[in-house]
Amino acid sequence: MNTALVAGTAVDTRHWIGGRRVASADTFEDLSPIDGRPIARIARGGPEEADAAVAAAKAAFPAWAATPPADRARLLRAIADGVEKRLEELAIVETTDNGALIRSHRRGVMPRVAHNFRFFADYLEHELGHPDFETRGHRNHVTWDPAGVCALISPWNAPLMLATWKVAPALAAGNTVVLKPSEWSPLSASLLADIAADAGLPDGVLNVVQGIGEEAGAALVAHPDVRRISFTGSVPTAKVIARAAAANLTPLSLELGGKSPFVVFADADLDLAVANAVEQYDNAGQVCLSGTRLYVEESIRDEFVRRFLERAGQLKQGDPRDEATDIGPSIHPDHVSRVDGFVQRAKQAGAKVLLGGGPNTDLGGLYYRPTLFTDVDPHSEIATEEVFGPVLVLHTFRDEDEVVAAANDSAFGLAAMLFTGDPERAGRVAARLVAGTVWTNCFFVRDLRAPFGGARQSGIGREGGTWSFDFYCEVKNTVFAP
Ligand code: NAD
Repeated sequence: MNTALVAGTAVDTRHWIGGRRVASADTFEDLSPIDGRPIARIARGGPEEADAAVAAAKAAFPAWAATPPADRARLLRAIADGVEKRLEELAIVETTDNGALIRSHRRGVMPRVAHNFRFFADYLEHELGHPDFETRGHRNHVTWDPAGVCALISPWNAPLMLATWKVAPALAAGNTVVLKPSEWSPLSASLLADIAADAGLPDGVLNVVQGIGEEAGAALVAHPDVRRISFTGSVPTAKVIARAAAANLTPLSLELGGKSPFVVFADADLDLAVANAVEQYDNAGQVCLSGTRLYVEESIRDEFVRRFLERAGQLKQGDPRDEATDIGPSIHPDHVSRVDGFVQRAKQAGAKVLLGGGPNTDLGGLYYRPTLFTDVDPHSEIATEEVFGPVLVLHTFRDEDEVVAAANDSAFGLAAMLFTGDPERAGRVAARLVAGTVWTNCFFVRDLRAPFGGARQSGIGREGGTWSFDFYCEVKNTVFAP
């Protein structure tokens, strides 16, 4: 069986290597989080498939690197068109595979996938200048030369969006790529291979190897012909990958987890703050940026909690294919056990549950109830570690110094959100927070020209706009004598 029929769409379950579908002797099972049922058996790649894909990418590199930027940009735009043409299929396949809401896939995520390709095509053609400057009559000329074969490793929480956030700039820059999607959400990467082939992308420029992280992923990141590794995922995996990268001194970009602070001052628009706080449950809390540490100024704590519980109580949990659903399932039974482990240990440690606190048994074990804890020791596990589920902790504070110190007292530094009616305070506090992105009086406003990445254990490097080209290229300076 080389294809699976998923919600009416035929998805090839094999690898895509050098412009051909390639099977593996072994396969693994892909479950749908909607009901925990198997939906496909996927080719289980390992060192052999990783080798073949890197070889195909290496062979395709010289011609792709030499393709004029305008032609590369045209092909990227054709991929964007293909994504838009198949948007509904991509949305339903992704929802079936990873359980995220169909309404966000239709109106947010898949349009963003197309935008990733179009944005980097435009950026390559119109924004990435070639700064020239003079030194004692000599002319310095800076170019962004493609690096070579890039290994791209992506997670399951926003599979195609995060994969294409890597694929698009890497290809725009003139590299060839091998993408290894997560084994918990392998399907959309296979559809992307079809779309890219239909768009006319030359064989070997984009390759997809399916498989388990410790097998296919490990073989890819250890490969000596790989010139860049871009990884989005968890901190423990990043440490393993960084060790593999060290062996070949392969440059790597790491987009990792978080435990972002969400700060609400007493002078904030409380309805706005509450609406955004409840949004932290989006995608069943499986969002790296999620503001899972709520810090609310003491004087408004009771009113904040009242409005938060009222609003969170209206969230509809259920089948993510239903447009009316606000919170779907968690990705996998193992992940639910992990999330529940955090929650039960927090309860045993004396944290008070204001909302939720366990799986939604009416819907089966995969749907975890939105949960809010208070009376939490700020140094306890639940207050410091990434749960990656719909679990928030509430703290209070009395002044700016106290909340800045508490917010920054974290191993992570991916994002921070702050709500205040005082623009000066917004600027002042934002400047003191340690985070790759600070959102003031808003959340998730993203411009692909902006740098994206994390401080501390939330990652290494930044992507977006020029930062993506910096990573995927050998930036070169050529000096011309007068
Ligand atoms: P994960 O680390 O378990 O896996 C991520 C990917 O790495 C998967 O494709 C997996 O197969 C692969 N992998 C696992 N072991 C590997 C190895 N030894 N060598 C090479 N590849 C290997 O992460 P996950 O559970 O899929 O994703 C959730 C995590 O991702 C969370 O920590 C979340 O915060 C983070 N995340 C970060 C961002 C960001 O932009 N900063 C975005 C989304 C998710």
